[in-house]
Amino acid sequence: MALDLSAVSSSENVWQMAQQQLDDVARLIGLNESMHGFLREPKRILEVSVPVRMDSGTTKIFKGFRVQHNMSRGPTKGGIRFHPDVTLDEVKALAMWMTWKCALVNIPFGGAKGGVICDPRTMSMQELENLTRRFTSEISIIIGPEKDIPAPDVYTTPQIMAWIMDTYSMQKGYSVPGVVTGKPVAIGGSLGRDKATARGCLYVVDEAMQTLGLTIEGARVAVQGFGNAGMYAAELMSQRGYSIVAVTDSKGGVANPKGLDVAGIMAHKAETGSVVGFTGGDRINNKDVLEYDCDVLVPAALEKVITKENAPRIRAKIVAEAANGPTMPDADVILFERGIMVLPDILANAGGVSVSYFEWVQDLQENFWEEDEINERLKRKMVRAFKETYDQAKRHSIDMRRGAYSVAVARVAEATKLRGLYP
Ligand code: NAD
Repeated sequence: MALDLSAVSSSENVWQMAQQQLDDVARLIGLNESMHGFLREPKRILEVSVPVRMDSGTTKIFKGFRVQHNMSRGPTKGGIRFHPDVTLDEVKALAMWMTWKCALVNIPFGGAKGGVICDPRTMSMQELENLTRRFTSEISIIIGPEKDIPAPDVYTTPQIMAWIMDTYSMQKGYSVPGVVTGKPVAIGGSLGRDKATARGCLYVVDEAMQTLGLTIEGARVAVQGFGNAGMYAAELMSQRGYSIVAVTDSKGGVANPKGLDVAGIMAHKAETGSVVGFTGGDRINNKDVLEYDCDVLVPAALEKVITKENAPRIRAKIVAEAANGPTMPDADVILFERGIMVLPDILANAGGVSVSYFEWVQDLQENFWEEDEINERLKRKMVRAFKETYDQAKRHSIDMRRGAYSVAVARVAEATKLRGLYP
């Protein structure tokens, strides 16, 4: 049964947007009312007040959250965001998306997310460490390797993951590396985790290109965002034979229809802090990069950048969502009608959580794998998830997002039903 896509409208609130996406899929797969109601809300929300000793000697109180959306398929998993704009609604939406993402790539986790309202750019390392340790202590009643495993997200780094691991371990009295992923390799992190999101994105773009009968060699790629996800996506895709024609970061970017020297841009960014000013192309802004003439567009920065206004002008044949939530629901409808294949975030950026899962498995087994083994396992997961999504989308004449959601939601519903209701 195909959906009535004309009924979709865009909500400005990300939590409502996440619920609306679930509602669409619930109708599509015929989810019963009580299961739909159950999956529509988080299982658990913890709001904490985090007192932090600042360098000035004063104590400042921060607000933090940990939301666990669903744990039918296993312990919950999801990053921690340190950002001034964090809201409970945003954390709830990100937790729900994590549930679907883990189910789609078929790893035995449910979804969670955490956040602290703070601006790490204005804080010293000591203040950040104090904040991280106290926040960890406050949420330690609900996290743990068998309960809920945090990871990095916006403005949280491997060093911050190391402090989380150490704080939790100090409370237990022994090392517990499996409590958090995205750690430095020296304390139980996984090889390949740093580029995993980008590598997973490359694997699904390769599959999409082959499925659509397009040639990879020389295919033109535009990337918005040049951080962990976007920069490594540009690097790995250029090594694979794609031609990177435009890249931007928060300050703007550079474009060249004949292709850019990605290694040169990475060196320029390392030296100057931005891709802007690289001499191998023309200046481009963050709005125009989305509409640049290319075969593959990779939004890898912000939420809600593809809207009903710019969707009619997007020229790519494939949009690969390295970022979470870059496409508004009503823009989705326009892209689908125009025949553009959108690889949704829960598929295109699931490489990160997949290698986080490998990290957790390695920590629990105290047995660490070689990087080529990790990349090979990642490839198998991503290719299978792409094929399952594509088959579902074809079968029901729906877009790839609804294809991915319906596979994922059905898996979570099945696990929930099998476990039954306690008591
Ligand atoms: P990051 O902080 O490493 O990089 C973000 C990049 O976006 C930076 O280059 C920044 O300059 C750029 N940026 C900021 N504002 C911009 C703007 N207005 N226009 C263009 N670029 C802008 O973050 P990241 O880890 O690469 O995360 C980016 C996105 O990918 C987020 O949506 C995140 O949730 C998602 N994601 C990341 C991972 C991961 O493992 N890193 C996994 C899944 C999803």
